[in-house]
Amino acid sequence: MQRGDDLLTSMCLLWVTSPYNVVALNETWELLAHRSARGHCAMAPSVHAYRSWWGWGRSDAAVTAGEREALVSRVHSLLPDADLTFHEAPEPSTLGVVKPAVAPPTPLAKLSSMDVIDRLAHARGKAYRDVVCNLKGDIGRVPDAVVRPASEQDIIDVLDWASSADVAVIPYGGGSSVVGGVEPRFEDHAGVVSLDLERLNRVLEVDRVSRAGLIEAGVYGPHLEEQFKPYALTLRHFPQSFEFSTLGGWLATCSSGHYATLYTHIDDLCESLRVVSPSGVSQSRRLPASGAGPSPDRLFLGSEGALGVITQAWMRLQQRPRWRAHVSAHFADFSAAVQATRIIAQSGLYPSNCRLLDATEAMLNAGVRTGASVLVLGFESADHPVTAWFERGLEIIHAYGGTTPNPPTHSDAADAPGDREAGSAASWRSAFIRMPYQRDALAQHGMIVETFETSTTWDAFDALHAELTATASRVMQSITGFGLLTCRFTHVYPDGPAPYYGVYAPGHWNSLPQQWDDIKRALSDVLNKHRASITHHHAVGRDHRPWYDQQRPDPFAAVLGAAKRTLDPAGILNPGVLIDAM
Ligand SMILES: Cc1cc2nc3c(=O)[nH]c(=O)nc-3n(C[C@H](O)[C@H](O)[C@H](O)COP(=O)(O)OP(=O)(O)OC[C@H]3O[C@@H](n4cnc5c(N)ncnc54)[C@H](O)[C@@H]3O)c2cc1C
Repeated sequence: MQRGDDLLTSMCLLWVTSPYNVVALNETWELLAHRSARGHCAMAPSVHAYRSWWGWGRSDAAVTAGEREALVSRVHSLLPDADLTFHEAPEPSTLGVVKPAVAPPTPLAKLSSMDVIDRLAHARGKAYRDVVCNLKGDIGRVPDAVVRPASEQDIIDVLDWASSADVAVIPYGGGSSVVGGVEPRFEDHAGVVSLDLERLNRVLEVDRVSRAGLIEAGVYGPHLEEQFKPYALTLRHFPQSFEFSTLGGWLATCSSGHYATLYTHIDDLCESLRVVSPSGVSQSRRLPASGAGPSPDRLFLGSEGALGVITQAWMRLQQRPRWRAHVSAHFADFSAAVQATRIIAQSGLYPSNCRLLDATEAMLNAGVRTGASVLVLGFESADHPVTAWFERGLEIIHAYGGTTPNPPTHSDAADAPGDREAGSAASWRSAFIRMPYQRDALAQHGMIVETFETSTTWDAFDALHAELTATASRVMQSITGFGLLTCRFTHVYPDGPAPYYGVYAPGHWNSLPQQWDDIKRALSDVLNKHRASITHHHAVGRDHRPWYDQQRPDPFAAVLGAAKRTLDPAGILNPGVLIDAM
C-alpha cells in the first residue's frame, strides 16, 4: 500500500517532533504543577477567561502561523489531492445562539453567567467531533446559563430549583469529555444549565498519618498538585488532559492516569466520596477497604453526573518518587512484544510504566523508523531503589527477543533535584502539551485525527486487534480513500491490556463529522462483537450509549435505572448519559 506508506511517513514527519515519550509524562505534569505554583497557570477567577470556546486549551496557546504552515505543507507534500483548505473558527456572534429559555431565580442569579461565549464554551466537550462541529458552526443546543456554585448549599439550591422547574443540570468539571458527556444533546426539559464546579477548588484537609487528603471536586490538576506541594505529597494522577480537567470529572468518568499498572484508574486512589443528589447528600466513610456489602463509592465512581454531583473526596496520596528507572525496548515482532508485555503484567513487578507501541505508533509518536514495536518500561519508588525490579523486567524483555538500543536511565532525585526542566526532556514536555492543539489545527484543514480505546483479556486480544485493523482499513478505504490505524497499550493488567488506537485520515470537510462517526461506529461494532469494553477510561457519555447498553447486563441496567429514579426523581441530571430516567 504505497500511498499508505507515504502517508505514514508524512504523519511521522508531522508528529515526530512530539514523541510520545510516556516515560516523561508524569514529569510533564509535575512540571505543570510546578509552573502553577510559580503563578504561570493560575486558575482564578475562571479558566474560561482564557480558554478556547471551540477547541482545546488556552486561546493564546493555539498553533502559531509558522507551526500551521509547517503542518500543512508536510501533509500537502504527501497528499497533493487532499483538500487542506483552512477553516477559521466562526465568530460566536454569527452563530445565532438563541436567547436563554430559562434563567436561574434571584438567589442563584449572582452565580450565573448568560454570556454567549461562556454558554458556547460549555455546550460541548473536547473530542475531535466536538471541535469539528464547533468549527462548522453546528452548535447544537447551548446551555441557557452557566452556574458556578461557591458552596455545597448552592448546589443543593440549584438542584431544588431545577427539579421543580424541569431544568436539566449538567455537572461540568473541565469540559474535557471526549464522549459527549457535557453536551445537552436532548430536546426535552424546559431549559438546561451547565453546573461548572471550578469555584470548589480547595484542598480542605490533609491527614499525614493515613496519607490522604480531602479535596473539593472542581479543582484542576495543576492547582490540586500545587496545594499538596507544602506537604511533599502528591495524588499522582496524570491523565493527558491533566491541565484542563478536574478531580470531580476524573471520579465521575473513572479516568486513567500515567500509572500503567496497579493504580491505573482514579477509583484506586479514592477513599471516600461526598455526593449531592436531588434526593439528598451521600457521604461515605473513610475506609482503606470494606467488606460491608456493595460499595457506595462504586455507585458514584463513573456515574458521569447522572446520579449526583460529586462535591468532595478523600483521596489517597503518595510521596513523590525519588528513584526511577526506565528503558525503551525494541521488538522486530509485535506479537513477541505483546507476549513480553503480558509476562511483565503477570509478574507482580507492577511497573509504573509499561506501554507498548506498535510499529506505526512508534514511528508516528516516538520517531522510531526501523519498523520496530517499542515497549516503554519504567519503575519508580519513593521508598527504595528500583534496580532489582527493573533488572527482572529487562530479563523478560530479552527473553522475548527485545533489544535496548539506548541504555536504560536510572535516576535518584536526591542526586539531581533541580534537573527536571533541562534538555531534551523539557523540549519533549512542551511538545507533548502541544499535541491537542495540533489535532485542532489539523481538524481545521479537514484531517481526521482521533483516538478510541478499550480493554480485553489477553486470550482475546489477537483476534480483536486483527479484526479492528482489517475493519479500519476497509472502512477508511471506502470513506476517505485511505487512512492509518495505530495501536498502543496504555495500561496493562495481569488478565489483559487496555489497547488505545489512533485514527488518521484525510477527511472531506463537507462530510465531517459524519465520516468520523461512520468510522467510529464500525470500529465500536467490532469491540462489541469481541465482547471488549466500549471504553477503558474515556467513559460512556452520549457517544458510547448504544454499545454500553449492550455491554451491561439487563438486571444491572434495571438496578441502575432504579438508582437514577431514586436519586434524581425529576430526571434532571445529565439526561442521556449512562441510563435513561424512565
Ligand atoms: C486531549 C485530551 C486528553 C485526554 N486524556 C485522558 C487521559 O489520559 N485519561 C483519561 O482518563 N481521560 C482523558 N481524556 C478524557 C477526559 O479528560 C476525562 O474524561 C476527564 O476525566 C474529564 O474530566 P473533566 O473535569 O474535564 O470532566 P468534564 O468533561 O467536565 O465531565 C465529564 C463527565 O463527568 C461529569 N462530571 C464532571 N464533574 C462532575 C462532578 N463534580 N460530579 C459529578 N459529575 C461530574 C460530567 O457531567 C460529564 O458527564 C482526555 C481528553 C482530552 C480532550
